[in-house]
Amino acid sequence: MNLDPIKIRQDFPILQQKIYNKPLIYFDSAASSQRPLQVQEKIRQIDQEYYGNIHRAVHYMADKATADYETTREKVRSLINAGTTAEIIFTKGTTESVNLVAWSFGEAFISAGDEIIVSEMEHHSNIVPWQLMAGRKGAKIVMLPFNNKGELELDKLPGLISEKTKLIAVAHVSNVLGTVNPVAEIAAIAHARGVKLFVDGAQAIQHLPVDVQALGADFYAFSAHKMYGPNGVGVLYGRKELLEQMPPYQGGGEMISEVRFSGTTFNELPYKFEAGTPNITGVIGLGAAIDYLLEAGIENISVHEQALLKYATEKLMQIPGMKIYGESKNKSGVISFNVEGIHSFDLGTMLDKMGIAVRTGHHCADPVMQHFGIPGTVRMSFGIYNTREEIDAFLPALKKVISLF
Ligand code: PMP
Repeated sequence: MNLDPIKIRQDFPILQQKIYNKPLIYFDSAASSQRPLQVQEKIRQIDQEYYGNIHRAVHYMADKATADYETTREKVRSLINAGTTAEIIFTKGTTESVNLVAWSFGEAFISAGDEIIVSEMEHHSNIVPWQLMAGRKGAKIVMLPFNNKGELELDKLPGLISEKTKLIAVAHVSNVLGTVNPVAEIAAIAHARGVKLFVDGAQAIQHLPVDVQALGADFYAFSAHKMYGPNGVGVLYGRKELLEQMPPYQGGGEMISEVRFSGTTFNELPYKFEAGTPNITGVIGLGAAIDYLLEAGIENISVHEQALLKYATEKLMQIPGMKIYGESKNKSGVISFNVEGIHSFDLGTMLDKMGIAVRTGHHCADPVMQHFGIPGTVRMSFGIYNTREEIDAFLPALKKVISLF
């Protein structure tokens, strides 16, 4: 079955509007994707029919909200093929998931002099939490570089691992270069040396089938707002055996078993890592987003986006002065580029006036910009609802903007 973007677009009324009197072309799904009516309807239903605080109540609404919240945990487990729902922790996003692991794994497993390997293509949220932890623990961050095509230099990885290395942190898909990293291969190298693997899946989960066990990820993080779900919700998958050894990240309600002034015992997994009232509506909305993704079919989404990527790349390459960053063979629907002599910010600002939403700047990946010696790029990114016709409309708009400089 092929994906029908015309039908899909009917689920996204936000895309059917004009911006500055021009039909909106939304090429910024890597920053945040739009939400279909099905997700909006689920949230409306909770707000109007059964909102209540989860886990601790006996009344009908709280019970129903709890059931939906926990059903979503099972949907996430199944989506990524985790072994058990005890391994699925709800957070407020990828950023919080990384911070949770950096802090808690750091407390449990990192001592002075230990090393963490972080790839050069990471989003700041998969760099800075490790740096903070390293600062606290007296550990060291070692960088795994990428080549000029935007592919990790995996041949260098074994040489970077020492007996001090405890963890490797890497993106499944780069938010700037689009590179799909060979996570299973990295996991095999890491595990052969007793090193754990943290995978940032923020740009993967909405584009590719993800199986955390087949990938060999010890931890895997993602955000609902990039997968057609609500903002303010994310997931951390962690292997049970590791999570069990890690201390709670935050203290509060729900994460305890018994509280005495003489000492507190903690709740079982995953609740040990979910202190306080979580984003109930958001988590249930994520459940609706997962239903939506599965209904469309992740393989179908992947085929559709790959076709858009190929088509747009071929057309862009014909533009004089065009430089695309990220030429990996295995790439997802993200194109970062610059046009010689024009600042990315100026390009983005003028495209906006033509109804086209792209992202400009460093994309929270300064080391990638430093690698190429540039201040920023224009980034167009595709989602389930984008069409070839939008690319056909984008190209003359881009050419017009270029001609104005
Ligand atoms: N990692 C990657 C690869 C990302 O693209 C993003 C979002 N731009 C993040 C992490 C951070 O996600 P969030 O802001 O949802 O926490």
